[in-house]
Amino acid sequence: MRLKTLEINGFKSFAQKTILEFENPIVAIVGPNGSGKSNVVEAVRFVLGEQSMKSMRGKGGSDLIFKGSKNLSKAARAAVIIYFNNTDKVFKLTNDGGEDVNLNYDTISISREVFSDGLNKYILNGSEVRLKDIHNLLSSVNIGSSGHHIISQGESDRILNANAREKREMVEDALGLKIYQYKIKESERKLERTNENMKEVSLMRRENAPHLNFLKKQVEKFEKTKEMQTELGALYQEYLKKEDLYLKGEKDNLSAKRTKIENELKNVADKISGAEDTTSAQGEKKLEELRKVEENLNSIRSLKNEVERKLGRIEGMIEMEERRREQKSEIVEISQEEIKQVIGEINNSIDEAILKNDMAEVKPILKRIKNVLKKFSPDNKAEVPGSSEIDKFKESQEKILREIKELENKEKEASKSAENLRREINEQMETLRDLEREKFTWKVKHQELKSALEFLLIKERNLKDRKEAFENEIKEGEALIGKEALSFKNYQIENNGEAHDQEELRKKIERIKIKLEDAGLGSGAELMKEFREVSERDQFLAKEMEDLGKSIESLEKLIADLKEKIDVEFKEGVKKINVEFQVFFALMFGGGHGSLAITTETKRKRIDESEEGEETEDAEDVIIEKGIEINVSLPHKKVKELHALSGGERSLTSIALLFAMSQVNPPPFLVLDETDAALDEANSRKYGDMLEKLSKRSQLIVVTHNRETMSRAGVLYGVTIGSNEASKLLSVKFEEATQIAK
Ligand code: ATP
Repeated sequence: MRLKTLEINGFKSFAQKTILEFENPIVAIVGPNGSGKSNVVEAVRFVLGEQSMKSMRGKGGSDLIFKGSKNLSKAARAAVIIYFNNTDKVFKLTNDGGEDVNLNYDTISISREVFSDGLNKYILNGSEVRLKDIHNLLSSVNIGSSGHHIISQGESDRILNANAREKREMVEDALGLKIYQYKIKESERKLERTNENMKEVSLMRRENAPHLNFLKKQVEKFEKTKEMQTELGALYQEYLKKEDLYLKGEKDNLSAKRTKIENELKNVADKISGAEDTTSAQGEKKLEELRKVEENLNSIRSLKNEVERKLGRIEGMIEMEERRREQKSEIVEISQEEIKQVIGEINNSIDEAILKNDMAEVKPILKRIKNVLKKFSPDNKAEVPGSSEIDKFKESQEKILREIKELENKEKEASKSAENLRREINEQMETLRDLEREKFTWKVKHQELKSALEFLLIKERNLKDRKEAFENEIKEGEALIGKEALSFKNYQIENNGEAHDQEELRKKIERIKIKLEDAGLGSGAELMKEFREVSERDQFLAKEMEDLGKSIESLEKLIADLKEKIDVEFKEGVKKINVEFQVFFALMFGGGHGSLAITTETKRKRIDESEEGEETEDAEDVIIEKGIEINVSLPHKKVKELHALSGGERSLTSIALLFAMSQVNPPPFLVLDETDAALDEANSRKYGDMLEKLSKRSQLIVVTHNRETMSRAGVLYGVTIGSNEASKLLSVKFEEATQIAK
């Protein structure tokens, strides 16, 4: 791995694209004051990700961008690209999984751009990356971010001025332990994230727990009810199967009955209306006939009566005539007795009349007397008719008798036919009554059938209700034990097994149903689903916690291992540095001692933090920090304190230390900006020797005004400032360089 090229564009005084090639192990940059040499050093710092603006002599990003001059406009951004040869593929990048991956490029290019608003862009081989990727990448090739390998102007004794912790950091960086520090930081960040995740997940799990527990209890409860459900299922199957069969059978049965009854009804109704048609008409006809015959008979009879009366009169007259003829010869003899009686009556009446004064009272008496006397008057005797009249009477009599005879015949005939008709009517009445009886029977039958039909309809309605109840029962059952458990289609009714009647089954079902409804768990399908989901989530969270726990464990282990590694390597590194430091120190000072010491700082840490914040008895000592301290002892001098050294001595000490560190763990390159400024001629030579020694293992870029140093460089760049106020770079020969540097 080698530093190849530095390309500066728009950075500070380098208005235009300027390219430095690092083909030689020692490249010197020379030029007059203010020409922009240090800007080159800062360009290197910049491109390697320097974050301290102070170390680049600026306040913000815009200070790093060429500000413009009379004839040059200001740049929009400052860009620096550094190219490394990576044919040995040593550059590594830590991926997200924490693994180090060797980059497979022959050339690694790192570019950094800054814009006037301060925005920075880092580009690795054409792809934008994060700053930490740059740090990570560089630390893999021992280019630490503490910048111990870049010594800016006037900073040669920076390490001496730093505090113990900063010194330690520089030493760690020089020893290439920074990569482990990054890894620790990264792991700590991951650990923190993981811990947060862990907290989150465990919170979620805790939040989930009451619900899960509730469901678990419900499930346990449900398991208990399962037995009931099984029993209910069995009862239901039997019940429903029977009910189903019954309903179907009954439906068929009722509809068959209904058809039968309806047919019968129709039949009976036909019969009834048929009977009504035939019976009465015939009877009516006969009765009418009878009525006529009887009417005829009656008129014959009354005619006969009349004729008979006529006959009676005629016969009477005949008899009277015959008697008169007998009486004509007979003398009426009145007995003495009768005379005496009559005289007596007349005398009594006369006596009565004499006694009366009023004529009006005498007259009726006289009339009575006259009447008594009439008995004896000869006018009282009737005329006797002649014999021709009797003959006439007799003639009539015979005629009448013939008439009577005729009428009698007629009467006989009429009464016979009346008789016949009556008989016939009677007979007919008899059949009519039979028919009526029959009709009545049909009507009764009709009524019966109608009642039966009504009864059937009621039954059908009941059956319908029962069917509805059956369907509701299925719905209820499904809600309680699920559709599957209720499936009764294939249920075999066991005749030999325990046979329940429906009512008994119903009661049993109801009892279990009430118990299940009390438990309130339904078919359990919802519950089980929810339980499954919630417990799966819990398991998922548990697994997550386990994984996170493992990650935490492995991260903690990794961190501990890394710390251990740093600790061990740091101690060993310091030992090695001390060996080199002593050599370089003695070389620079012609004797004396220089060494690094690891310092530990201990603090008392309270275990039990009291409210007053006072330290309590429970406090314990904790080593919280390890630092580095530099001990020097100059030859022939008693001074041991660093701050008491002269500027040159400080410079020599820090150079010795810097070179010692670079010797132990050579960085790919070292940039030294006028580190040699304070050296006298003798020390300049020693410095030049050390440079050559170091250049065997690290590329050196030196900014110098020192002739001795220039003489050791293979390539010299002269930097001048032109009339356009921009730095200009040119490759120069040694003689030119010494000229330019003045
Ligand atoms: P010396 O030998 O005295 O140390 P040098 O060669 O190291 O000098 P630098 O310090 O690198 O010189 O350069 C300083 C010069 O760069 C100054 O003239 C300063 O005006 C110029 N400069 C610094 N920042 C910018 C900038 N953003 N735009 C233009 N010029 C700048």
